[in-house]
Amino acid sequence: MGTEAKYLDKNEELEVRVEDLLSQLTLEEKILLIRGRGAYTANPIKRLNIPAFGMTDGPLGVANHSSNYAKATRFPATIGLAATWNKDLAKQMGVVIGKEVKLTGCHQILGPGVNLIRSPLCGRNFEYLSEDPILSSDIGAEIVKGVQSQKAAACIKHYVTNCSETKRMSMSTEIAERPLQELYIKNYKRIIEKADPWGLMCCYNKINGVHGAENKYVLRDVLRDKLGFTGHVVTDWFASRKTSGAAGCIKAGLNLDMPGYMFLKAIKPKTLLPKKVHKALSSGEITEEDLDYIVRPFLRTMIRVGLVDDEQVELGPKVLDIPEHQKIAQLIAEESMILLKNDPEILPLNINEIKKIAILGPNADKIFGKRFQGGSSAVVPPKFITPYEGISNYVSGKAEIIENVEEADIIFLVLGFDHGESLFKALLSKKEGDTEGKDRSIYGLPKDQIQLLNDTVAKNPNTVLILVAGSPVDCSTFYDEVPAILNAWYPGMMGGDALARVIFGDVSPSGKLPVTYPKKLEDHPAHKSQKTFPGDLKAMKIYFEEGIYVGYRYFDKHNIEPFFPFGFGLSYTTFELSNISLDKASVQGKDSFTVSVDVKNTGKVAGAEIVQIYIGDDKSSVDRPPKELQGFDKVYLEPEETKTAKITLDQSAFEFYSESEHDFIAEDGTFTIWAGNSSRDLPLSIGIEYKN
Ligand code: BGC
Repeated sequence: MGTEAKYLDKNEELEVRVEDLLSQLTLEEKILLIRGRGAYTANPIKRLNIPAFGMTDGPLGVANHSSNYAKATRFPATIGLAATWNKDLAKQMGVVIGKEVKLTGCHQILGPGVNLIRSPLCGRNFEYLSEDPILSSDIGAEIVKGVQSQKAAACIKHYVTNCSETKRMSMSTEIAERPLQELYIKNYKRIIEKADPWGLMCCYNKINGVHGAENKYVLRDVLRDKLGFTGHVVTDWFASRKTSGAAGCIKAGLNLDMPGYMFLKAIKPKTLLPKKVHKALSSGEITEEDLDYIVRPFLRTMIRVGLVDDEQVELGPKVLDIPEHQKIAQLIAEESMILLKNDPEILPLNINEIKKIAILGPNADKIFGKRFQGGSSAVVPPKFITPYEGISNYVSGKAEIIENVEEADIIFLVLGFDHGESLFKALLSKKEGDTEGKDRSIYGLPKDQIQLLNDTVAKNPNTVLILVAGSPVDCSTFYDEVPAILNAWYPGMMGGDALARVIFGDVSPSGKLPVTYPKKLEDHPAHKSQKTFPGDLKAMKIYFEEGIYVGYRYFDKHNIEPFFPFGFGLSYTTFELSNISLDKASVQGKDSFTVSVDVKNTGKVAGAEIVQIYIGDDKSSVDRPPKELQGFDKVYLEPEETKTAKITLDQSAFEFYSESEHDFIAEDGTFTIWAGNSSRDLPLSIGIEYKN
């Protein structure tokens, strides 16, 4: 390769390329690289012909506002993806996103969003995955793998404890070391171990008094030194604005301050402006080695995505209307839907027995996915099939859509939340919704929707309730009023088609709740007082008083009956689980072990069951949840068919975070392994011994 610099040699080892590129940079270039240039671009290194690194928002696809107004595949809300419990679909979604990131000329998707769902009311639950770190990280890791298989960088966000939106830029999460590590950081730890993400976004909020962007404990001591994160850390947009200054962020290990500016050149974060970095250098607060330490990970990402290789990125058209990509969005929507009630069994409907259908409700024909709608994950699709359109198309020529509910054979009432306002309007208006920058204030549906439901059911009880929402909804007020409830989340651009296939039985619902639905908000661990949610707004502190008892862990510990438990979801068929077994009765050290469970489809139609494995410590030196999810397997079965689900685990399934050792440890002893199809339906169990 003659005199060509090593960083240009694709066959050279990544770290050699990184060091070589670093050695070629001037001080000025390094300083330019640690802050953005535009709204979604970093600075290019012009002298070396290295173009600017481009980011686009996610996580529901490639967002319009950050991709030069491209139209792209709009996936279901990621809470719906988690409800599929299908790792393969998560990977496929990642692959599509990675391809579309490249087609829009970008290098990184600002997603997946993996904050744990701590409260049903967080405005951004729809963009996150689960209340449980195992489900969240297993699904999150697959998205990352898919994205990065296309040489696009993922960016897991928002590290860490950004679990509510109220005053998100100033609020401090008050949290003890054990829950911080055992749940919130563990979620990131597992994604890092499984998928090696090339990017991570820090949070707006403070963690125990120190903002995410300058929090050395979480960014450097934990993320780099303990978890071995190799990617670059970008701020959430304007998140560095309240920091203690350039030296603080640099010492803490922040790699990229974004944006460069937003809308107008004057609207910009000022923390890492070149003159401030120079000042920190000349005063001796930081050294050039400190600067190198934070430039290095970003160079690594630039090399990983091929930015320095002079590869010609093939730009797609402005409108990405790609049927294969839309097919994946539809499959995810179909598997994400959760049948919450079907009693008497009204679903699936036989199209040959239905003549007149009424479809009503505020979310029946609402188009989600307009520019800036719902916040940063505003993906604008080339087309959008609403529930109304999907059902109408499906029944076309076979049944009539009518308005008079009294004359209908069946009514589809589509209720839920609003996700259809621009971020700016949503911030100003008092309207409830699943949106960035704001939390919901009530757990139930809006009053006018309850009224509509009661009026409709009074006229015609053959009403199927379809929920289109991105977070848990209080179902207690209407559960007894309707025969069937189907939770469709925000099902994305193909949602209407997917919905029709589920309600007419082409597909049996197989989604399971990735979050607990409490009977009432006060039963929920995050809602014990104002202090715990949305927080003490004078002190600007939100207290995570529930500690390690997040979600179902709390309901189990205190024997509180949830309305719908974590992991719950019905099907059109029935399954029987039997024969739990282990490949070894005793596990030593880092050995892996496999739990096997037979699953039989005992009903009349094909379907899929999710075998969930929970483990509890029989005796521990510290307080532990009665059981915790450790793994799962989704099994697809024809009627009468039996398959064996196999879940391989290792010593991490026995671990907790020890505050005295500041590390995860597993204690010698016996543990119980449960298998079932929800956190509250675990018919099988078996004991296992663990020795260090
Ligand atoms: C959001 C991030 C997003 C960023 C860039 C922020 O308001 O919190 O999730 O990626 O904006 O648009």
